[in-house]
Formats: sequence, C-alpha cells, structure tokens
Amino acid sequence: MRLSGIEIRGFKSFCDPVRISFEDHRIVGIVGPNGCGKSNVVDALRWVLGEQSAKHLRGQDMQDVIFAGSKTRTQSATASVTLFFENYRVPDTGLFKFGSFSEISIGRKLHRDGSSEYLINNTPARLKDIRDIFLDTGVGGKGYSIIEQGMIGRIITSKPEERLRIVEEAAGISKFKVKKQEAFQRLQTSRSNLTRISDLTAELN
Ligand code: ATP
Repeated sequence: MRLSGIEIRGFKSFCDPVRISFEDHRIVGIVGPNGCGKSNVVDALRWVLGEQSAKHLRGQDMQDVIFAGSKTRTQSATASVTLFFENYRVPDTGLFKFGSFSEISIGRKLHRDGSSEYLINNTPARLKDIRDIFLDTGVGGKGYSIIEQGMIGRIITSKPEERLRIVEEAAGISKFKVKKQEAFQRLQTSRSNLTRISDLTAELN
C-alpha cells in the first residue's frame, strides 16, 4: 500500500478543505515557516489511523483537534481527515490485496458533540477494521512509518521488548500475535459458556 494523498478539513489549523497529493516519491518532506501547520499534517495522519490519546496529538482533549476558529473564521463543527492509499496487486494473481478497489480511503470524523465515526471507502467501519488492514504494514498509530522528532533516539534507548515490537511489526509477525490473542479470548469465552452450560445441566438433573 502506498499513501497517495491526504484530505484534511476542519482539523486543527486547516479550516478549509486541503488535499495534499504525495506523488510517486519515496520520501516526502513538508516544509514551511514555524507554526504554519507542518506537525498538524502528521497529527492528522496519526489521528485518522486511530490515535486515541489527545496528549499524543498535542492537545488536552480530543475536541481540541477541531478547528477552534480565528479572528476571521468561526470554529468548525467537525474535523475530518481522509487518507488515500494505492491498493497493491498481489503478484501473479492480478487481484488486489484488500477488496477490489485500486484505491482505498480511510476516514475519521469527529463532531463537536463528541460523536465520531471511522470510514473505509466512505462506508462506516470499526477502528478494528482499520487496524486489521494495516497490521504488519508499519502503518498505524503506533507503526514505524511515522518517524517523529526524537523517535530514533527513543528507539535506541528503549527497552528490548519495545524494540522487539518494532522488529515484529516489520517482520510481519505482529498480525499473527493479534490473531492468536483474539483466538485465545474466543476460547476463553467458549470455556466459560461450557462451564455455565454444565452447571445448568447439573441443576436440571
Ligand atoms: P514548528 O515549525 O514551530 O514546529 P509547525 O509548522 O509544525 O510549527 P504546527 O505545530 O503544526 O506548526 O501548527 C501550530 C499552529 O496550529 C498554531 O498556530 C496553532 O494555533 C494552530 N492550531 C492547533 N490546533 C488548532 C485548532 N484546534 N484550531 C485552530 N488552530 C490550531
């Protein structure tokens, strides 16, 4: 998957809709004067991929991501960010890796009343569906595809378990760890149900 663009509206300093296209370049730099909104673009990326911590987005609470108004503009009612990804074709099969679309859009919206939604190709989705798409791709709120200031230093000085998590994500193992965890949870629920059924059966006998 390749990030081909981002559309931001009503998010932080971006009052009007802005679409940034990332042409077919491997490395993209965002440059501009201090305070012009460079970090807000990265915040938007993190946010749409499911960032749940307002602090990590440099705010007090999540509503702080909605455009707060300026001398000339009233505040926005909704923050909305959409990412556009080129879908991969699986070698030799001609099929797309995810569904049948050549482009996948991932969106997140937050309204001032606190209601919010995630969208995959404009269809409401769960955060889990979005996380599932990006497992093992390095993309995601905690993925290594977004390298912030100071992150390299933090990786070097991090605990071995944390470094292992990054290596596992890059090696494609973390997807299976998540699936294993989910399977264990289902197993646990089934065991509890079985115990309950045998208790009920014993009572009836
Ligand atoms: P620097 O180069 O100094 O790191 P930057 O280009 O990364 O700056 P950002 O931190 O992305 O700039 O943007 C800061 C600007 O965004 C500030 O002017 C701040 O007032 C504005 N801003 C942040 N949140 C909101 C919001 N909810 N509504 C309106 N403006 C906001």
